[in-house]
Amino acid sequence: MRVSQLLIPTLREVPAEAEVISHQLLLRAGFIRKAAAGVYTFLPLAWRVIRKIEQIVREEMDRQGGQEIMMPIIQPAELWQESGRWDVYGPELFRLKDRHGRDFCLGPTHEEIITSLVRGEVRSYRQLPLLLYQIQNKYRDERRPRFGLMRGREFIMKDLYSFDRDEAGLDVSYGKMYEAYTRVFQRCGLKFRPVEADSGAIGGNDTHEFMVLAESGEALVVFCPGDACGYAANVERAAATPPGDTGIDEEPRPAEQVHTPGIHTVEQVTAYLGVDARRLIKTLLYRTEKGTVAVLVRGDREVNEIKLQKALDVLSLELADAPAVERISGARVGYAGPVGLTGVKLVADPEVMGLVNAVAGANRDDTHLINVNPGRDFIPDLVVDVRLVRAGDPCPHCGTPLQEARGIEVGQIFKLGDKYSRALGATYLDENGQNHPVIMGCYGIGITRTMAAAIEQNHDEDGIIWPVSIAPFHAVVIPVNHKDERHMQMAENVYRDLAGGGVEVVLDDRPERPGVKFKDADLIGYPLRITIGNQTVETGAVEVRRRATRETGLVPRDRLVGHVR
Ligand code: ATP
Ligand code: MG
Ligand code: MG
Ligand code: MG
Repeated sequence: MRVSQLLIPTLREVPAEAEVISHQLLLRAGFIRKAAAGVYTFLPLAWRVIRKIEQIVREEMDRQGGQEIMMPIIQPAELWQESGRWDVYGPELFRLKDRHGRDFCLGPTHEEIITSLVRGEVRSYRQLPLLLYQIQNKYRDERRPRFGLMRGREFIMKDLYSFDRDEAGLDVSYGKMYEAYTRVFQRCGLKFRPVEADSGAIGGNDTHEFMVLAESGEALVVFCPGDACGYAANVERAAATPPGDTGIDEEPRPAEQVHTPGIHTVEQVTAYLGVDARRLIKTLLYRTEKGTVAVLVRGDREVNEIKLQKALDVLSLELADAPAVERISGARVGYAGPVGLTGVKLVADPEVMGLVNAVAGANRDDTHLINVNPGRDFIPDLVVDVRLVRAGDPCPHCGTPLQEARGIEVGQIFKLGDKYSRALGATYLDENGQNHPVIMGCYGIGITRTMAAAIEQNHDEDGIIWPVSIAPFHAVVIPVNHKDERHMQMAENVYRDLAGGGVEVVLDDRPERPGVKFKDADLIGYPLRITIGNQTVETGAVEVRRRATRETGLVPRDRLVGHVR
């Protein structure tokens, strides 16, 4: 392909709206353009990268016996009501109505649709196990879409769902996906780590996140450097807030007493937070001794620990007895306790001092303040060691001091068990004619986030350095002087040789100065740059430069295809 014909609108300036390097480079190198916050058009180069990542994912899913299908993006509310998620999913769910006033949503994930499919089509144990997947746009109305493709509101995900007859079968399916994910990210040329992640209320070690290691990662992971051990976990086991960013975009408001009647359900808390309340509780338990935790929720509505009391009941935790405090990660959730019945006494961890407009109070009606701000409304009188596992702490498996790193969550695998199959009635008959719910797992890879993560990990001051397996093209051929017929002719010939030899190559035939072409080539990140100048005309040797190492060498034209491949 000829660069003169391709839509590659490179920019010289760093776009002001782009905070992270992948976002800046994707805009500057002409890969993406914004249509709305968190919604992008993929231009030809980006689309080629996406298709390559998708193809790697597809091959690895198929290798494990996955069958590709395509489910609808528009999903009827009825299925979400059946699973119970319509009321609890919160503001991340894009909801819409058809002309008859019926409720729908744009799929943020597809457990409901796929479980209803399996409910209808699977009758017998003979049809199991079943691994079904798709690669499709997902929709999540993220509170803060940002960082370009890293946190979009429309993004591409591969989601696979496994169906087994029992837990042992699920273990096998889970193992297959663990292996598939490992191979996918290896093949994409990325440095990554699978880490134990938060499994919410289900408990146990039944979910892993795949983290691409990069400074800009939103997650903090700890890992054991011991070769034999392999322990690695997400520190927060929940979303982390990047350094210097409290995740809060509100102004402090005057503190105010509020009436907060009633005990609220886990579902209501979840709906308000847009985060599974049980997940928070798990986080608390993980970090603190049972019975020492109080919870408060940031917010300017009547959200407070009473609402979480109900959730805590699940774990028989006594909120009113709480003598200690805990920070809950994530932007919307504050921290808490210990709570007097006649006033507000707060303690804080210095890390949460950036918190604004917290709710504080006791486990009683009418004892709450909203818009409480640390420093202004109270002075922390106790700093609690929340015992997050951090670098230097002993590895829980082998005692070696742990190390930490930042990571970008590019994939997650999760054992669901019978949560959805029970709710939606997806069952099978065993050999004895007994009915059982199918046992499920779900497994996601962010395709577009993986593209961004690859850039976060592979770039320099000049631009992107694509791993070869996912590069939009392998090579660019640049004639030094577009006015010199011999350069142009030679470039044309080299381009034909390479294309004919199966190399994905572009010819930069634009009437531009060589400096402009070299800059663009580095910015776009073609793994190889092949330059045609006087030397080539005179000696027949072309200059080959590797983007990653900047190594340059001369290669005789007749050996070029073999050299490049
Ligand atoms: P996060 O913690 O970053 O919000 P998640 O845990 O909500 O992600 P999952 O539900 O596990 O995401 O979805 C599977 C994968 O989809 C994630 O591992 C990630 O790679 C990708 N993904 C999730 N949300 C987004 C988004 N807003 N933009 C781009 N990719 C996303
Ligand atoms: Mg999310
Ligand atoms: Mg996550
Ligand atoms: Mg996840």
